[in-house]
Amino acid sequence: MKRVVVVGGGYGGLRCIEGLEKVEELEIVLVDRNPYHYLQTEAYSYIAGKSDIYDIAIDLASWCEGFGRVKFMQMDVEKIDFDAQTVYANEQSLEYDYLVVGVGARTNFFSFIEGLREHSHGVKFLSKAYNFRKDFEAVLYEKLNAQSGTTSESINIAIGGAGLSGVEVAAEMAHTLREYGKTIGTRAKDVNIYLIDASDTILPGSSTYIIENTMKRLKKLGVNVLTSSFISRVDADKILFKDEKELPYHFMVFTGGIKAAPLTNTIECEKNRIGQLIVDEKLNINNFANAFAIGDCIEVKDKKGRILPPTAQIAERSAEYVAQSIVAKEKNIEQSSFDASVMGVFVALGGSYAVGEMFGFIKVSGYKAYLLKKAITYAYYLGLKLRINTGFKNRKKIL
Ligand SMILES: Cc1cc2nc3c(=O)[nH]c(=O)nc-3n(C[C@H](O)[C@H](O)[C@H](O)COP(=O)(O)OP(=O)(O)OC[C@H]3O[C@@H](n4cnc5c(N)ncnc54)[C@H](O)[C@@H]3O)c2cc1C
Repeated sequence: MKRVVVVGGGYGGLRCIEGLEKVEELEIVLVDRNPYHYLQTEAYSYIAGKSDIYDIAIDLASWCEGFGRVKFMQMDVEKIDFDAQTVYANEQSLEYDYLVVGVGARTNFFSFIEGLREHSHGVKFLSKAYNFRKDFEAVLYEKLNAQSGTTSESINIAIGGAGLSGVEVAAEMAHTLREYGKTIGTRAKDVNIYLIDASDTILPGSSTYIIENTMKRLKKLGVNVLTSSFISRVDADKILFKDEKELPYHFMVFTGGIKAAPLTNTIECEKNRIGQLIVDEKLNINNFANAFAIGDCIEVKDKKGRILPPTAQIAERSAEYVAQSIVAKEKNIEQSSFDASVMGVFVALGGSYAVGEMFGFIKVSGYKAYLLKKAITYAYYLGLKLRINTGFKNRKKIL
């Protein structure tokens, strides 16, 4: 029986396994350095206290168990030998017939911004989102305890990077503060959210419809949007800009860039400036016909040759394509090239509000867009939950 090893239990890795598991001739092994799958697309709601840890993390062993025939191994892969068809982790190794690398990306704390890494949080890892949530809750707690009748110190929360994740985090926090305003009173008004970007717009690369509607909503929520603002240094208590302005802050999250996961550094292959692997049109690494890469760790271009921003949508589409390719190879069928067209984008903008665009001509904002976004997320989450429930039952039978 041929073995497929999928490295990385993210959006791409899981979708790839879903596409492969029906092929009984294949043995499937999922490998991840964490025991859980982190739903980072939902991080904004977790940080702002709108959802809990069990809404954004699921146990990978139970999920795999749900298929009855997919094995999970917790391994932090350090090296891949493509000739020997083996992946290596600390004193462990695993041979493969087919390999899928979906190790994702991490926050790129630009080294040219002094103090950035030291003083800001990322949201690409569950541990970071967890710390950020604690800080945010601490601010609210502090405000709740401020003595009545006194003017409490105003608190600034800074979000560096106004891409999709930065915008979603800023909007959800601002919305939470507005909600808290009703319960802890006017003291919550002293918490200010700053969304900062070096670019002259929020959501660079998005359509005018998405940008304008998002701006309107952010303004309504009271988010201070600072575009064309280049951060040059981050101190423990203030952010310094290139134009010498300063912003005192309480805590900061940075969502301004990503770089491919460190495993890609160990792979001898052409890469772009953020370490993403340059794979061929069939998503093969270095022309190895049995080794593929998917998701955030690869550079993906559309038909016009434009680099696409890394999204869960692309991770899942590339994973579906690779699963089909592996099945096609087993049947000796030639597979066409990967088509990376983006179907649409939805931006969650706090509470029951979103902005979205599908197929370039369906444009929605407000509650309708929120319902559509929720439906997509819910369908994803429900799929995971159902699989986990089966896995849980399977495990109970064994124990
Ligand atoms: C706040 C936020 C909001 C977002 N909103 C959206 C959205 O609305 N829509 C959208 O499409 N996208 C959104 N994204 C982007 C989306 O989350 C990513 O594009 C997606 O997670 C990429 O999936 P992936 O499978 O490539 O990588 P990931 O989901 O990052 O998974 C990678 C996996 O690989 C594992 N791994 C890494 N290195 C190793 C190793 N050496 N050995 C073993 N395992 C390893 C990791 O533990 C992880 O489980 C958002 C991101 C954030 C942070």
